[in-house]
Amino acid sequence: MRKALFVATAALALWLAPAALASGWCGTGELATDRLDLVTGAQVHTIVATPSDSPDLFVADANKLADDVASMSAWWTGQDPTRVPRYDVATFPGGTCLDISYVRLPQPASAYQGESSFDAVVAALENDGFADTYKDYVVYYDGPSVEVGLCGQGGGQFNLGGGFAIVWMSGCPDVAEDAIETHELLHAFGASFTQSPNDCPPPNDHHPCDSSLDVLYPFATPGVPLSQQLLDYNHDDYYAHSGTWPDIQDAIFLQHLNTPEVALGLTLSGPGLVTSDLPGVACEASCTTQWDQGTVVTLFASPANTSRFLHWTGGCVGPADCVLTLSQATSVSAVFGPMTIPVTVSTSGKGAVACTPKCSKHFSAGDRLMLRAAPAKGWKFVSWGGVCAGTRLTCSPKTDFALTVRANFKKLLPVKKKR
Ligand SMILES: [Zn+2]
Repeated sequence: MRKALFVATAALALWLAPAALASGWCGTGELATDRLDLVTGAQVHTIVATPSDSPDLFVADANKLADDVASMSAWWTGQDPTRVPRYDVATFPGGTCLDISYVRLPQPASAYQGESSFDAVVAALENDGFADTYKDYVVYYDGPSVEVGLCGQGGGQFNLGGGFAIVWMSGCPDVAEDAIETHELLHAFGASFTQSPNDCPPPNDHHPCDSSLDVLYPFATPGVPLSQQLLDYNHDDYYAHSGTWPDIQDAIFLQHLNTPEVALGLTLSGPGLVTSDLPGVACEASCTTQWDQGTVVTLFASPANTSRFLHWTGGCVGPADCVLTLSQATSVSAVFGPMTIPVTVSTSGKGAVACTPKCSKHFSAGDRLMLRAAPAKGWKFVSWGGVCAGTRLTCSPKTDFALTVRANFKKLLPVKKKR
């Protein structure tokens, strides 16, 4: 987004209108990583980034960013009461707040100026691990202007994470930052619609040209607040349109406000970790998370050092990754077993049990075990007890958990002589 070449002086009086929402960021701490996710589903993660030689203004920038996210969310639901962008939040001493990372970029401001500024900042952030398949990133770049009149840049693929929306904070000081953020986030969501009826001519294509009040209009007008802008004027280009090209209203990064949440109850039996492909589950103990109804999520089970993953029960069955469609409240259990198990064999009567491989207190769990009953002379095998059953001489029990087996022998009656 570029700053428009004209200035709408009449609009300047509205500059202070969004101040009611200015309450700042309730989180604390400068952390260069993404904190533990509390929100489930594809989401937007926020970052404050500064070049290596710029001052650290993180507190002020984080307050501004949090206020902009609040005003943009309020604006979005005003434009579409059924949707709002899903933002990444985390737990802080003050409660649940926007998860804002602070990244000190590796190079001085001069390295990020000119034509390749967007690519250079994105490359540095991806290198720092901001490359989740289910996250798009909003970046407030607090450094000198990278190009005269350039307010922000954004790009990404529809319904694929790794998109970036960069607000060049010094680029357009008289343009509402929440409007720049919204414009670039739409690009990060994959708003690109050369098939749409109102696409601007090059070099401003991928933007609608039918109204300068459209938030995705290629030029920002200083002094016009986001509250006066529109999410796709006439709904014919990129949002809630009836065309065949991707519609940002269907973006996985938007929470559906008219859809109920359903609970995913997860139980862990034994030591292990369960994670999800979408952000939301990272549980070492039983946990419950809330999801938009209809979400399709895959769960992965990882054993602890001392355990093996055996299988799922409940909503999924068997040992493969658990794919769930959350049309209603769902419960799943992940069953982990120990690495070694005690195999205890006893007998009643006279006889022995041969184990292949050897039975011991530290039998390798999951290995095939063959037991064979061998009666002593003058005795016969009668039956198994414990985990084995039946009267056959051999038994091959499952070895996932500790097991106890008993072989019962009976003395043969002396054969009577025929008279
Ligand atoms: Zn743009």
